Amino acid sequence: MEAIANELRRLQREGVDRVFVEDDTMRLLAPRKETRSAPEVASASPPAPRADLGDLRELVKDGPKKEAAPAKAAAKKSEAPPLPDAPVIELPSGDAATRLDWLRERVLGCDVCQAKLNEGGKIVFGTGSPEADIFFCGEAPGADEELAGEPFVGKAGQLLTKIISAMGLSRESVYIANILKWRPQHDKPYGNRPPTEDEMRYCLPYLRAQIEIIRPKVIVALGSSAVAGLLGPDPDRKLGKVRGTWASFGETPVIITFHPSYLLRNGTLKTKRMAWEDMLQVMEKCGLDISEKQRGFFLPKA
Ligand code: URA
Repeated sequence: MEAIANELRRLQREGVDRVFVEDDTMRLLAPRKETRSAPEVASASPPAPRADLGDLRELVKDGPKKEAAPAKAAAKKSEAPPLPDAPVIELPSGDAATRLDWLRERVLGCDVCQAKLNEGGKIVFGTGSPEADIFFCGEAPGADEELAGEPFVGKAGQLLTKIISAMGLSRESVYIANILKWRPQHDKPYGNRPPTEDEMRYCLPYLRAQIEIIRPKVIVALGSSAVAGLLGPDPDRKLGKVRGTWASFGETPVIITFHPSYLLRNGTLKTKRMAWEDMLQVMEKCGLDISEKQRGFFLPKA
């Protein structure tokens, strides 16, 4: 029980505000006389490093306040009927901004994507510059993103924004999108599920068209779903092994790096430095100036 409590405190200190808690674990945390069934998600309030177990139970009592309602039918990986054939995209001519606007309308009007939305959720197309040199590709929208209709606006997104600023760039100067354009439905009241292969297959033409229009110098694959979506699934691929290496999506170089959510959960100096070294590689590939200060980020102090 102490180990669970310590782990919850650690996550809380790192800014995590929602975790799944299995019923068995909740029963351990719950007072003996309490009989109501436990929720499956923790919602952390502001950090309380010396919280006792009573305080921690408060953390896991209520779900997050602002989630779109999960769709009633749980789309279990194996049970969901296959999606239709992937869309065929024939891009119009024109400049990148015009073509991207056309594609956005096409994706926002996609009946298959619309049918997959949670109540109150929106399709998340992508955001940023049609002329971007760097294309950040994530997994799928989460709760914050489906409400906003914009990728990476929640906690992981705020970290991604910080990483982009540390590179001397802004969200407006790069492009940010996801493999999947809707938030994957699941049967838990909170939390996210990674996209299935079928979902990734369906959305791939949309992502491919975005990349074809923007023609970035580099794609940054954020985490294993992005890697699977861009490079194809491979059960033997381990992110820890391929992180920091280059692959390609058609002609475009792809660097494989951690998902910002992973960095939120495992934000040691070492993992931060590893992720930062990947970004230094991206900056080099794009011919961006790198200051001595930037080169030294997340190195242990001498
Ligand atoms: N995680 C992702 O992979 N994408 C988002 O847009 C938000 C969180």
